[in-house]
Amino acid sequence: MRYLDEFSDPDLARRLLDQIHAAATRPWALMEVCGGQTHSIIRHGIDQLLPKGVEMIHGPGCPVCVTPLETIDKALAIAAQPGVIFCSFGDMLRVPGSGRDLFAVKSAGADVRVVYSPLDALTIARENPDKQVVFFGIGFETTAPANAMTVHQAERLGVGNFSLLVSHVLVPPAIAAIMESPRCRVQAFLAAGHVCSVMGTGEYPPLAAKYRVPIVVTGFEPLDILEGIRQTVVQLEAGRHEVGNAYPRAVPAEGNPVARAMLAEVFEVTDRTWRGIGMIPGSGWRLAPRYRPFDAEHRFAVTGIHTEESSLCRSGEVLQGLIKPHQCAAFGKQCTPRNPLGATMVSSEGACAAYYAYRRLDLVSIS
Ligand code: SF4
Repeated sequence: MRYLDEFSDPDLARRLLDQIHAAATRPWALMEVCGGQTHSIIRHGIDQLLPKGVEMIHGPGCPVCVTPLETIDKALAIAAQPGVIFCSFGDMLRVPGSGRDLFAVKSAGADVRVVYSPLDALTIARENPDKQVVFFGIGFETTAPANAMTVHQAERLGVGNFSLLVSHVLVPPAIAAIMESPRCRVQAFLAAGHVCSVMGTGEYPPLAAKYRVPIVVTGFEPLDILEGIRQTVVQLEAGRHEVGNAYPRAVPAEGNPVARAMLAEVFEVTDRTWRGIGMIPGSGWRLAPRYRPFDAEHRFAVTGIHTEESSLCRSGEVLQGLIKPHQCAAFGKQCTPRNPLGATMVSSEGACAAYYAYRRLDLVSIS
């Protein structure tokens, strides 16, 4: 199939692997930022084919994983209110809050619906003027434009019974936070291609220069990832730290100017807490003052909900690349995809779920 098989070609993959092996003379620790890339790397065994010492660290780029527990609890509190239709993408329904998940709230009688676009939620709001319709808007720069456009449309059409529970996060401040950590082992990044297809590459040169790390924009198919790794290793070996683009078929340098304009119109940058990592300054979006009436957190007065994480779960260390999932004592025992303790086991893009699905139980030493 075009665009899939051609980026999984085994002969080309072998050629790229040969080039990576030829280029790597020392150990290097590379972080793939995006959960989709993590899934692809583990699924295809790419990390096991790399030269000894070239290690993939799995970054915080799974939107479900980094959504704070307290935001899930706020979603549960809103969804349980009478007269509310709570709309979400399906992957959020199984994410456990501190007590239950959205499926449990639904089975207790709440009107929780899976939608495939925030615009579907807006349609539901227009069809149900006597109900409050809330869309759970989480994710990175990739999902934010559709949510921004939906709020913009709601305002334009005067749909006052629609609101957005916002938990958007931004990649560049997370890269800065990872590099500022005293325990940081990352020497280079594979940046998330879909994020850059919206935002472009302009935010990355200052990060590459400040932290002296190569940052290579990378796609999601096996050949995309191998090419990203190849470019990164070549830079590291040459002592360079530049921004590269290994995904030019989807990422122009300027990104998507129309989407960026919509984001700038509807959202403003705010501090945001990342599940397992903590608060990262300037790492999220919230609705700009003009659109604040569409903010579900304020409309339903749930700003006072504060929740502690499970003490067993080490997803914060997983998300920062400090341990591999199977090095958590709960992995595969108390914590499985059927009974997840932490969000990195819930989402198929989460590193713990990927390791569980592809039976990565072998021990990898972490220095
Ligand atoms: S295996 Fe489960 S408990 Fe351990 S870090 Fe992963 S999600 Fe948390």
